[in-house]
Amino acid sequence: MHGIEDVVRGGMCVGCGACAVRTDGRISLELGRRRSWEADLADVVEPDLRAASRVCPFSDEARNEDQLGASRFPGLPHDPRVGRYSGLFAGRLVDEARLLGASSGGLTGWVAEQLLVRGDVDAVIHVATSEDPAKGLFAYRVTDEPATYRSRRKSLYYATTFADVLAGVRGDGRRYAVLGVPCFLKAARLLAEEDEVLGSQLAFFLGLVCGHLKSQAFAEALAWQAGVAPDELATVDFRVKVPGRSSSRYDFGAVPVDGAEVDAPVAGLVGGSWGHAMFQVQACDYCDDIFAETADIAFGDAWLPRYKEDWRGMNVIVSRRPELDALLRESAELVLDELTLDEVAATQAGNFRHRRVGLSVRLHDDVAAGRPVPVKRVPASLEGVDRTRVRLVRQRRLISRRSHEAFADARAAGDLDVFLRAMRPLVATYARIDRGGPLRRFARRVQRRVAGLAPKRG
Ligand SMILES: Cc1cc2nc3c(=O)[nH]c(=O)nc-3n(C[C@H](O)[C@H](O)[C@H](O)COP(=O)(O)OP(=O)(O)OC[C@H]3O[C@@H](n4cnc5c(N)ncnc54)[C@H](O)[C@@H]3O)c2cc1C
Repeated sequence: MHGIEDVVRGGMCVGCGACAVRTDGRISLELGRRRSWEADLADVVEPDLRAASRVCPFSDEARNEDQLGASRFPGLPHDPRVGRYSGLFAGRLVDEARLLGASSGGLTGWVAEQLLVRGDVDAVIHVATSEDPAKGLFAYRVTDEPATYRSRRKSLYYATTFADVLAGVRGDGRRYAVLGVPCFLKAARLLAEEDEVLGSQLAFFLGLVCGHLKSQAFAEALAWQAGVAPDELATVDFRVKVPGRSSSRYDFGAVPVDGAEVDAPVAGLVGGSWGHAMFQVQACDYCDDIFAETADIAFGDAWLPRYKEDWRGMNVIVSRRPELDALLRESAELVLDELTLDEVAATQAGNFRHRRVGLSVRLHDDVAAGRPVPVKRVPASLEGVDRTRVRLVRQRRLISRRSHEAFADARAAGDLDVFLRAMRPLVATYARIDRGGPLRRFARRVQRRVAGLAPKRG
């Protein structure tokens, strides 16, 4: 049984901190070498280890997404790609100013704010600008004023932990909406089931569709390339919308301590392509939950051709609470389209390649190497995966692992080039594999030559 000990030993801890809350702080969280939070199990004994393992999102002792979904949303239809669902939508805010201040269609912030305004909850637990430098630029916080909440928006691709915040609100008699990526919400759900007090307080679970979580170094690496060195960095904006561009081609903004924001197209920065998975927290190599299947509602980007071209952004939404479907359907503040299951899944095509197909390959490789792995909802197998995909998955894993070390070396040397020099060849290899390798490129050239499209080379 792959328990929390294997999770931590195998570097698969995502740092959520559910174990710390469950054990009243006898397990602590530390910012690890890879710049993400990790549970420290030293000196922790039974029965704490088992209690912690039951709320750890990567432990086999915890109930999985299918089991949690079945008990939480009985009667709702289930699809293996999105989990249970009551409503499937694409939508965005009508108010242009608010829409432009959000990362995507702005409906995550809007729904959470509605819950506050209607009094369904007293506060929202979410990630926002940190007040504590020891936690980094962003951290989990509690926001209870709708106006304040409205100013705390946007996607934060940044490793955080909710250990302190959940422990802090536990037993205060207030009701909360908790917002997070799928593994954090699964952990919160597991905690709520095990801990009656928190269970009565966590009233809404709002999920973010997730490709993978980034370490804290991601923000620094992009900012440094934009011209703001880590020691001068005040904050970042991971997604600056750019008029006229496709919504997926956003800018990255870096704000220095004593100056104005500098923006740079994210696609031009090393690490900016999500396909390379640079700075990915290693736990994400073992995740198969894309649409936050344990959440009451999940929000992502509607990456479909008909929406993507609009730079202002559009959400994809999977709802699992009919009252939230009604909230969305009845509001005049939103543009809302009903989507089919296939359309919802198609918004995350790349995500499925990484999280499902890629996961099969990674599990296969780990098992072959004798490394312990958790039980996932895909098999450990290369069957049916084409050779190019297998090579891409392996190269992405290499890039991801190397990025943490290369950036730590660059920081120690005070020289960004140390990072760039280490990563560029790996990215070039990835691009070569993606193009299909020398044989396929040769075949393609021959075909084009035969068709009279390409001149003979060399
Ligand atoms: C790590 C990560 C990976 C993602 N990967 C994908 C992906 O592969 N595909 C996809 O379609 N969408 C992905 N998303 C979701 C996407 O980036 C948008 O956040 C989502 O579409 C919501 O946009 P919005 O305009 O509705 O949010 P907004 O209205 O701007 O509000 C976002 C709200 O979420 C809170 N928040 C932001 N980041 C976090 C966080 N890390 N934890 C907890 N609360 C947070 C903010 O405080 C704010 O309240 C990812 C998000 C994250 C954080």
